[in-house]
Amino acid sequence: SIKDSTHGSIQFYEKEMSTGSIREMIIENELRHAIAKNEFTLVFHPQACLESGDLSGVEALLRWKSSALGMVSPFEFIEVAEKTGLIIPIGKWVIEQACHYALKLERELGRPVKMAVNLSPVQFVQPNLVEIITNALEEAGLNASSLELEITESVAMEDEAHVMEKLTALRELGVHVSIDDFGTGYSSLQYLSQYPIDKLKIDKSFLRVQTNTNQTIIKSIVSMGHNMGMKVIAEGVESYDHVELLRSLDCDEMQGFVWTKPLPFTELITKLTSEGRFPLDTVKN
Ligand code: C2E
Ligand code: MG
Ligand code: MG
Ligand code: MG
Repeated sequence: SIKDSTHGSIQFYEKEMSTGSIREMIIENELRHAIAKNEFTLVFHPQACLESGDLSGVEALLRWKSSALGMVSPFEFIEVAEKTGLIIPIGKWVIEQACHYALKLERELGRPVKMAVNLSPVQFVQPNLVEIITNALEEAGLNASSLELEITESVAMEDEAHVMEKLTALRELGVHVSIDDFGTGYSSLQYLSQYPIDKLKIDKSFLRVQTNTNQTIIKSIVSMGHNMGMKVIAEGVESYDHVELLRSLDCDEMQGFVWTKPLPFTELITKLTSEGRFPLDTVKN
């Protein structure tokens, strides 16, 4: 009956609501003190040039070990941080730490390395973003060209005048900008071609299933990026089959578990100083 089905759906709805919101409330409360309690760390995921195997950059990824909840996935806590505005202080911490480690990495390797940092849409629109980044670079003593900000298509497609103004200021500062998870959003190619953007990062979903359609999409993104004067990197590269495919499609760079999972800083240094580069010659052919 109507009564029964209504009852059933309300029960289901309430259950979803309460479990969701209680965990979210705990996450919010715990997040408030996470910086002060030293619960955040960064791990680093190396990126390689597909032609040479050389290290081309490193992505800083945030990890949170909450004393109350244990490890919480960034997919879960970043969303809460964005909803509550806590992403502003947390994101600032990430930028500062990433700049600090970028300089340490450059000293260890004896050459400049690009450090990529994820920027939430909430951070992108904050009025003092450029100031925060300028200060973090200065504080760390890092060259602006060593910092790359990863924004998503959703950011790039907001108020176009504002986006253009922000991106131009960042370009003038000298930092690089890439579009993360590219291909999953709804970006207007018209705007994209006008914005000062350095790199497209192909979303990992296009490699996960190797269909003709996905290969065609990857191929199109690569040639589109190149036509707009951008570099193209693929993430989610898990196998040498992926590596071969991307090389055949003329993609510039790769990031993925085929080389390593994201590593704590000291492990990253150990790996890079012992291996030197991504072992491309292991590619069977
Ligand atoms: P993302 O920026 O697209 O980062 C790439 C994610 O894909 C990372 O997950 C990385 O570990 C994973 N990944 C890379 N290569 C592979 C692969 O070959 N196979 C598989 N299965 N996964 C791979 P992670 O670290 O869990 O981060 C998830 C997302 O959380 C990030 O996606 C990013 O959107 C967000 N995030 C992480 N750190 C930060 C941060 O400091 N600030 C902001 N705003 N967001 C962050
Ligand atoms: Mg990213
Ligand atoms: Mg992302
Ligand atoms: Mg991504």
